[in-house]
Amino acid sequence: MTRRRSSAAVRLFVSDLDGTVLPLAGGDGVRRFAAWWDSLTPATRPLLCYNSGRLCGDVRAVVRAVGLPAPDYVIGGVGTSLTDAAGHQLPGFLERFANGWERSRVQEIMAGVRGIEPHPERFQSPYKSSWSLLDADPARITAIVAALASADLRVRVIYSSDRDLDVLPADAGKGHAVEWLRRKTRVAARNVVVAGDTENDLAMFELPDVRGIAVANARPGLLAGLSTCDVYRAAATEADGVIEGLECFGLRPPPARPPDLKRHP
Ligand SMILES: [Mg+2]
Repeated sequence: MTRRRSSAAVRLFVSDLDGTVLPLAGGDGVRRFAAWWDSLTPATRPLLCYNSGRLCGDVRAVVRAVGLPAPDYVIGGVGTSLTDAAGHQLPGFLERFANGWERSRVQEIMAGVRGIEPHPERFQSPYKSSWSLLDADPARITAIVAALASADLRVRVIYSSDRDLDVLPADAGKGHAVEWLRRKTRVAARNVVVAGDTENDLAMFELPDVRGIAVANARPGLLAGLSTCDVYRAAATEADGVIEGLECFGLRPPPARPPDLKRHP
């Protein structure tokens, strides 16, 4: 079901990885998505970007290991890094983050939060401070935001899956990164489709004129924020839900041609 449908061509497709195109429990979803993507005609195949909480290098390694289509771009670390097809950071992307960001000060404040644990080092980056905090209610998150603001830090706090707490520069996040990439690639917002399953994907869906796919396994916290977004809520989960959504937005492989009938003289 969908609120309204646009027939604008899909020129840039940005997908979350885990729980979206990458099924959490394995299975054949990746294979089906890869085959479907390959079957698109080159002229209609959009630019492909994965947008993950994982760092860019980790995304590339996972994509290669499981056989997902090779991306044109990777946004990693919840919108704190953006690399091209060759794995190179796009010039100008990181430079925006320096103002108001002091990672050591963020670490100091966060380490004082009761019950919080740092995520492993492979999830940390110069512009991402990642933590685990189980079942925090909104009041606790508000208190953390206030503590960071009172230290004159310009940050964004994203709490997902009742567990993952990321502190990022104010101008970072999955949505900001998609908007930056969209402008860089000169794709109109109406030609962008995003897909996701958890709360940290919400900022992508909220971009003006961008269409979204919420897979059937999307968390209630994401769905609750989608009331004003142009979103297709897929009946299928994960990679199959992504295929369903993209087809709903008009992107589909050409119909199979009937076998040539041999002509006999
Ligand atoms: Mg996800």
